[in-house]
Amino acid sequence: MLLKERVAIVTGGARGIGREIALLLAREGADLAICDVNEVVLDATKKEVEASGRKCLAETVDVTKADQVEDFVQKTLDKFGKIDILINNAGITRDGLLVRMSEADWDAVLNVNLKGAFNCTKSVAKIMMKQRDGRIVNIASIIGIMGNAGQANYAASKGGLIALTKTVAKELGSRNVRVNAVAPGFIQTDMTAKLSEDTKNTMLKLIPLGALGTAKDVANIVLFLASDNSAYITGQVVQVDGGMVM
Ligand code: NDP
Repeated sequence: MLLKERVAIVTGGARGIGREIALLLAREGADLAICDVNEVVLDATKKEVEASGRKCLAETVDVTKADQVEDFVQKTLDKFGKIDILINNAGITRDGLLVRMSEADWDAVLNVNLKGAFNCTKSVAKIMMKQRDGRIVNIASIIGIMGNAGQANYAASKGGLIALTKTVAKELGSRNVRVNAVAPGFIQTDMTAKLSEDTKNTMLKLIPLGALGTAKDVANIVLFLASDNSAYITGQVVQVDGGMVM
């Protein structure tokens, strides 16, 4: 068990990659605090975490709202007494070409993917600094590294998240708080299920390993970055993309 007696927060933990991360961290011994805007699946994931023998706090929280995040972090602290791990996973897409992209779609994506991570990081940073221990993993995307036509908002948010990762790693390193990012490529989830077969086939041709990744592939590297096995690693971006970007 790599995370025995650890306490982890996973945002957007109800379904998709966040759910997979929550379940893996629980199997490795961590108690979980998961938050999401999707109340229905949130409860199902809470039950799955508890079925693996761990405690789980599950709250409906919109990560774009600083007051809701503060409240959730306080509840986590009250229930578990500490916070060792934060996984900033909540993310959305609102795709469209730049010239047709509405201000609302730009704001929505930047708010969830970047400001949401800022709100959560700021809230747990004070606690982790006091503890002189903490691990933060931000779920970015290879789109934040390479850009992608039709995803100006998403690419900017994920590129910003990578910059945030490096900055916070520099600010908190002296307090033994490590901050890293994972940049998944194309992963089989509801988010990518929306893509057309044409788009998927075009993407597959760009992936040397010749397949889409799975949520488990992402969760495995998150586990490594959240555990003591990565004790000397901070400020890094680890790509999980089948070799798509190199
Ligand atoms: P999903 O849409 O499957 O899951 C995201 C979860 O986050 C959903 O439960 C969603 O709720 C929740 N969420 C959305 N907005 C908020 C909010 N404001 N506050 C709290 N929770 C929220 O996405 P994935 O699992 O595919 O993606 C997870 C992360 O991985 C994202 O950051 C994404 O950008 C990143 N990623 C995904 C890739 C992929 O191929 N799937 C590739 C690269 C990166 P609801 O159900 O209501 O939408």
